[in-house]
Amino acid sequence: MRMDISIVWFRRDLRLLDNEAVSRATTESTQCLYVFIIDPWFFTQPEIGLLRVKFMFECLSALDDQLQKYGNRLTILSGESVSTMSHLIDSLKANGYRPKLYFNHDIQVSYGRQRDDAITAYCDANNIPLATTYNYFLLHDEAEMDDWWKRYYEYQYTDQFPLPDIRPEQAEVRNIVNQLDQFGAQTLAKDLSLTLPRPTQTLFVGGENAARQAVYSFIKDRVNGYRWKISRPFLAQNGATSLLGPHLAFGTVSNRAVFQAAAGHRTRVVAARPKKAFDIATYLDRLRWRDSFTQRLWFHPDLIWKNRFAEFDDVYNEKALTPQQQEYFDRWKNGTTGFPLLDAAMTQLKHDGFINFRMRAMAATFLTINCGVSWHHGARHFMNCLVDGDIAINHWQWQMQAGITNPLSPTFRMYSPTKNLRDRDSSAAYVHFWLPETRGKDVDTILSEATPMLDFNETRKVNGKIISDLRKQTRERIIAEKGIELEGAETAHAVVKGYDKRSADRYKRYIKD
Ligand SMILES: Cc1cc2nc3c(=O)[nH]c(=O)nc-3n(C[C@H](O)[C@H](O)[C@H](O)COP(=O)(O)OP(=O)(O)OC[C@H]3O[C@@H](n4cnc5c(N)ncnc54)[C@H](O)[C@@H]3O)c2cc1C
Repeated sequence: MRMDISIVWFRRDLRLLDNEAVSRATTESTQCLYVFIIDPWFFTQPEIGLLRVKFMFECLSALDDQLQKYGNRLTILSGESVSTMSHLIDSLKANGYRPKLYFNHDIQVSYGRQRDDAITAYCDANNIPLATTYNYFLLHDEAEMDDWWKRYYEYQYTDQFPLPDIRPEQAEVRNIVNQLDQFGAQTLAKDLSLTLPRPTQTLFVGGENAARQAVYSFIKDRVNGYRWKISRPFLAQNGATSLLGPHLAFGTVSNRAVFQAAAGHRTRVVAARPKKAFDIATYLDRLRWRDSFTQRLWFHPDLIWKNRFAEFDDVYNEKALTPQQQEYFDRWKNGTTGFPLLDAAMTQLKHDGFINFRMRAMAATFLTINCGVSWHHGARHFMNCLVDGDIAINHWQWQMQAGITNPLSPTFRMYSPTKNLRDRDSSAAYVHFWLPETRGKDVDTILSEATPMLDFNETRKVNGKIISDLRKQTRERIIAEKGIELEGAETAHAVVKGYDKRSADRYKRYIKD
């Protein structure tokens, strides 16, 4: 008699808890095979980041350790994803098994979407039962977007998937797997760690247990003062923000599990510790932003490289850089711009694969507006460095910081590295940490000795006007096209005149974009 076997194919969901694919597979079949495939595509894509790869191998290694506790293990296969998976399925079938495939879709890159379509077609053609799910909240029909908020919160408050019943692996299954071209997770992680760059600090440790510890320590203590600490780069690198980005990106913890832990704690402390409750509420917004960025990517995958508004195409594009732009770009990447706070941030980015939100925003506006280098170049450099690199957030944020989005607002933000050094690192602790030559000097001395590569105020005025004019052009076109009258159009909070509430809300969302 043919025996059922469930194959759980992991992607950006490297966890056992609150994982629908794992939960369903273990419920629906007694024998499970847990698989991760390393596709050669992965190492050749221009957005690869080696610190991120290192983190991913730590996660795989940790997942294998977890499974081994139950007498099972993670099988890591290498090869083109669809042919490797179909080869595994065929081998199991040839040995008398009836395989069923489970996976959570990965929507980050077009390669992932095409891979999922191809394996679905293969399963359909070969009568392989397939159960696919999603790893986070996602609407599939753009017409439902008016309800996004409501549906999002409903999802975040629903019960997590039950604990999976992981059973030991049968020796026969391992024998079949061993006949495939495969290698063990432990060996691979160990070998690769020898060739990957070593961060000066270990801000991030991969794996589900490490993720849960980070959630717990953040919500219990570190979240205190989150609202104001979030903008201080020295405090952020010392754990004032959750540092959960890489875990959410690789799915070692679900966004919903973090949300429920935080929201639950907020309810418990709201009466006695309103400030802490407020900090947690601010944090919950960030988690929602994350999912809303993913949602945008799902409906508009082209926005990864396409400007949100075509008016900006002449300024922001992937054309070769001029020698001057190339010099600015190289100095920006290497942290030798002569702006101490920016240089400290770019040094940290290279070493830690992390900088806090404000440093990211400052680096992005400086490169795109002051240096006149297209956001495409900066976004790719960030992806090459960030451990939490996430295309949905990163590329959209780059467009935002470059001044493209929300053109109906007459203002847009540019961050001065000098002002931010005075305001956000007034003791120079961060700059001292990353730029040893500044140690022992106060902010005034550091700034008086700095030799900036360009005139910030002048470039802000000249290049900022170019962006401002393009925003105005875009704004006028949108207003004319939509035939809409704006009330308070000269403010950042323009609202639509004469529209019913529903249209107004929809339009406001459009404006917010
Ligand atoms: C130019 C630029 C590029 C960015 N690229 C990325 C990226 O590739 N990956 C990434 O996770 N974040 C990115 N961010 C957003 C933000 O800077 C980071 O999420 C945050 O600094 C990560 O630190 P943390 O995990 O301690 O976040 P916390 O402050 O503890 O927030 C928790 C989580 O909420 C989400 N989040 C926080 N801020 C934002 C935001 N502004 N937009 C959307 N989601 C958010 C992230 O998943 C984050 O891990 C970018 C911001 C800018 C300005």
